Amino acid sequence: MSEQRHVKVMIIGSGPAGYTAAVYATRAMLEPVLFQGIQPGGQLTITTEVENWPGDSMVMGPDLMVRMEEHAKATGAEIISDHINSLDLSKRPFTAVADSGAVWTADAVILATGAQAKWLGMASEEKFKGFGVSACATCDGFFYRGQDVVVIGGGNTAVEEALFLTNFASKVTLIHRRDSLRSEKILQDRLFKNPKVEILWDTTLEEVTGTEDPLGVEGVQVRNVKTGVISEIPCKGVFIAIGHAPSSELVKDQLETHMGGYVVTAPDSTATSIPGVYAAGDLTDHIYRQAVTSAGMGCMAALEAEKFLAEMEADDSRSKVA
Ligand code: FAD
Ligand code: NAP
Repeated sequence: MSEQRHVKVMIIGSGPAGYTAAVYATRAMLEPVLFQGIQPGGQLTITTEVENWPGDSMVMGPDLMVRMEEHAKATGAEIISDHINSLDLSKRPFTAVADSGAVWTADAVILATGAQAKWLGMASEEKFKGFGVSACATCDGFFYRGQDVVVIGGGNTAVEEALFLTNFASKVTLIHRRDSLRSEKILQDRLFKNPKVEILWDTTLEEVTGTEDPLGVEGVQVRNVKTGVISEIPCKGVFIAIGHAPSSELVKDQLETHMGGYVVTAPDSTATSIPGVYAAGDLTDHIYRQAVTSAGMGCMAALEAEKFLAEMEADDSRSKVA
């Protein structure tokens, strides 16, 4: 028979939101259990320098997340290396089933499942995924030493990926669909000054081209959206950096969502449409999507869960007396 356990608070996700919720919930004596999922540490584990985490003028993303995990553990949080496959929020206690087969019930749930990279959705992108097409320069940049690569996108991720790739590639072409970048100005300055970078404005990716045997990228076909002219750029790597979508698969049919799957929370709160269920971090935030804002929401979720559980306990005692 599979393991079954009951906890007061279950935290799903191990990014800045999840670990911060764990620190606060443990210090409120709620004995939380945190599930790390398939990306322990979350999105910051696939980047390099983080320069906007207060208190650290520069910290490596993976190091920061190891520190957050250690902090959560040191306060006494139970960290479980498992992925939640299904979550039933229709009645309390809420029930979660993990990949391992373990069944967990909880009086309150903090959802901190973050976001995942988006893809363009074209057949040739899919075909060459893992064979020259990637969404993670930190993971795959090393394979492109001395070669030409392209990056698609114009936000912080695209600019950071392009800059990171200049450490390996001989040339990095940033392809952006508009004539201005969305990324922070400080990153744009670095990009414009880098001699290895060329920017193709007003340009979209039409197709990734390459060899069949062995499967590998040889170039991209791009289109200038103003002139309609199609051209070819030879390259060995294509990095897609067009943003992130919320990881709301577990709850999208049970909670109110908006803007393409972001979980809706009450104003100035992490409360979702179901009492006792809280959502924090990139899962609920389509505007800021930063480590520090995610951590802030993790704190709010734990404090709100504490208040909810205290009220639930008070109601229980009153009904026993009556
Ligand atoms: P995430 O970090 O997305 O973590 C989600 C967690 O949920 C993961 O641990 C995952 O395993 C887990 N999970 C998902 N589904 C399940 C499930 N079913 N069961 C169990 N666990 C699950 N922000 C900054 O402030 N500064 C930066 O410099 C910066 N650089 C970035 C660079 C890159 C390349 C990227 C992609 C993002 C960057 N960001 C940066 C944004 C920042 O990483 C996010 O805002 C932040 O990580 C969001 O935290 P989160 O806790 O909401 O979720
Ligand atoms: P983003 O800010 O949403 O930017 C996505 C980029 O991809 C935009 O430039 C967008 O173009 C482009 N794009 C979207 N769909 C496209 C499509 N179908 N075809 C072509 N281009 C497309 O996403 P992000 O850069 O991944 O950043 C996500 C969040 O993480 C942001 O809040 C960001 O600040 C944060 N983050 C922060 C840091 C940091 O602080 N250093 C680093 C990385 C990420 P348009 O501009 O035309 O819309």
